[in-house]
Amino acid sequence: MHFELTSDQEQLRAGARELARSFGDDYWADKDQKCEFPWEFYNAFAEGGWLGIAIPTEFGGGGLGITEAALLLEEIAASGAGMNGCSTMHLTIFGLNTIVKHGSADLQKEILPRAADGSLHVCFGVTEPNAGTDTTRISTFAQRVDGGYVINGRKVWITKAGDSQKMILITRSTKREEVTRPTDGMTLFLIDIDREKIDLRAIPKMGRNAVSSYEVFIDNLFVPESARIGEEGKGFKYLLDGLNPERILLAHEALGIGRAAIEKATRYAKERVVFERPIGQNQGVAFPLAEAQIRLDAAELMARQAAWRYDQGLPCGPQANMAKWLCAEAGFQAADQAVQTHGGMGYAREYHVERYFRESRVMRIAPVSQEMVLNYVSQHVLGLPKSY
Ligand SMILES: Cc1cc2nc3c(=O)[nH]c(=O)nc-3n(C[C@H](O)[C@H](O)[C@H](O)COP(=O)(O)OP(=O)(O)OC[C@H]3O[C@@H](n4cnc5c(N)ncnc54)[C@H](O)[C@@H]3O)c2cc1C
Repeated sequence: MHFELTSDQEQLRAGARELARSFGDDYWADKDQKCEFPWEFYNAFAEGGWLGIAIPTEFGGGGLGITEAALLLEEIAASGAGMNGCSTMHLTIFGLNTIVKHGSADLQKEILPRAADGSLHVCFGVTEPNAGTDTTRISTFAQRVDGGYVINGRKVWITKAGDSQKMILITRSTKREEVTRPTDGMTLFLIDIDREKIDLRAIPKMGRNAVSSYEVFIDNLFVPESARIGEEGKGFKYLLDGLNPERILLAHEALGIGRAAIEKATRYAKERVVFERPIGQNQGVAFPLAEAQIRLDAAELMARQAAWRYDQGLPCGPQANMAKWLCAEAGFQAADQAVQTHGGMGYAREYHVERYFRESRVMRIAPVSQEMVLNYVSQHVLGLPKSY
């Protein structure tokens, strides 16, 4: 057993760190405040060939594993870019896995090289207002017609929909009442975001404001059969394939935010003098930061193990879920403690930790809530009866 990264992984991490840190906190605060997509940042990573890191080499990608992709996103988050930086690209990195695994050869040739070079933006449409976490109750419906399907429905929270040309969309193609298992009868598509047929409304939200998430209204959208990913009716199964890598990557992003927060907090704790001593000399200030560091380092071990298992082709559901839970908690606690360490200045935008705090909060809700992770562990690790 050994816990070291390889020298290639260390090099990759150093390269990602250097590029990410060339965009400072002020850049991110400005983009966040203006709700502007960070094109300069995105283009720099596209030009550096980072976006296709996990796309197979035959399609112009780097052909690396989830471990390398996770290191990249952790470094981006830790640079102060947080979720504003990671959300510009994490869908390209893991969302297209379904096309790599289940897409037709034509779809792969059309999509993957453009995703790898950063020219194609794809978003991921799962969540619906009336279904919530219970994806089997979605009502967006793909009706079979000559040559394809007509889709009608509504999605919510779809990140980057306004900046994307395509959306991976989960639909029902057979009504829930007409299938044996609720997870049957769902079909996955890669659709064009045709603004004649699709209305988008950005949702005003707490944080990560450089990247918008949208309500999506789909009205009589025709899609050809060639836009279907895999077989009709098996979409839910394909969706499940992507959940573990998504959780592993998001876990690393939460870690990165926590690390950025601790870096800022320890610097401030050394510099800020009150009662004639640096505040960090008080154990009341130092201990919570030390605890936050311990939690981050422990969470990192689970996250790295989950990534390693995925890359080895080993089952990793428990580890991916636990990593997401641990890192989301550790990242949030670190960000909260960084605010506390800054006192009143923790609340001021100038010191950036309030932005980390707002961004780390969402990690406990999305892409899967902490409660649903606990449901997973209760059922699949502890063997308790399913509760819902
Ligand atoms: C910033 C942001 C970006 C997002 N981006 C995307 C995206 O790009 N694409 C996409 O498809 N979705 C996206 N989402 C949606 C996200 O995945 C969901 O918000 C999340 O999965 C929770 O679902 P919900 O909001 O419908 O909550 P609900 O399902 O309504 O649940 C509400 C609360 O009840 C709890 N709960 C529900 N059932 C149970 C149960 N059985 N046991 C215990 N607790 C339960 C939940 O954990 C949660 O705390 C995004 C969300 C946010 C906030």
